[in-house]
Amino acid sequence: MALGRASNLKKYSRVVLLAAAILIPIQLWNPGSAAASVSYQAKFDTASGEKTKKKVKSKTRKADMSWTKLQKQFPGTFVIHGPRNKKKVALTFDDAPDSRFTPAVLDVLAKYDVCATFFVVGARAAQKPDLVRRMSRECHAVGNHSYNHAVMSKLSNEAFRKQIGRTDAILHGIIGYHPRYIRPPYGEILPSQVTWAKKNQFVVVNWDVDSVDWRNNPSTETVLRNIRRTLQPGSIILQHAGGGSSQDLSGTVNALPRLISSLRQKGYEFVTLPELLGKPAYKNQK
Ligand SMILES: [Zn+2]
Repeated sequence: MALGRASNLKKYSRVVLLAAAILIPIQLWNPGSAAASVSYQAKFDTASGEKTKKKVKSKTRKADMSWTKLQKQFPGTFVIHGPRNKKKVALTFDDAPDSRFTPAVLDVLAKYDVCATFFVVGARAAQKPDLVRRMSRECHAVGNHSYNHAVMSKLSNEAFRKQIGRTDAILHGIIGYHPRYIRPPYGEILPSQVTWAKKNQFVVVNWDVDSVDWRNNPSTETVLRNIRRTLQPGSIILQHAGGGSSQDLSGTVNALPRLISSLRQKGYEFVTLPELLGKPAYKNQK
């Protein structure tokens, strides 16, 4: 009897531990939970947020396989690069807008006459609509990077659709079109979510070149080295134009003039995703 109770107790504590293990990570990211009041900014600023980010990133390596599968399963809807037969590449900047780094990135692109693509976080766009308007006015394509930088693969389909829909409405109010291109934060997305994206005329775009400018505030040299490692015709380059207050993207900003000049010398042309992939930045209205 006593033994039975003890083993019941053991079982009970195991269940509690298991429930905690499941619920705590959901609580951290679920925008529908109480944690939703913790702002996107705060998440990026906290040490735990950084840890979560790194954990997800290392998982992304394992996800390389699933990216290959997704490309095969959803040609034209899940994309990580453009055609390899033309010397065109696309610069993409995530986590915009941000008042420290987005204007600096825009200034360099304007100076060198480069049109790029910005993946915008809905909550940030609502706070800084002028910067999003500036992107659009200055020849850049604007894409959807979720409402508050949620890990989409951990969301229910309904919560995923809300992340996209809410951001879509905000961006439409600012730039006057419904962006076609989606980039899921951390590149994390489920096949069922890509199916929905396809049905709704979205194109999900990850990357084949990671500047790794999101880790350890890298120097200009490091950013350039990271980009050159896998760059080739048709490449889609991941960089950032926004982040938390502990993030310093000077390496990204300062790498741009050298990257642009050296690739142009090698005969490369910088284009937006719509130009690289042959589909407009906006969705056709129904
Ligand atoms: Zn991001």
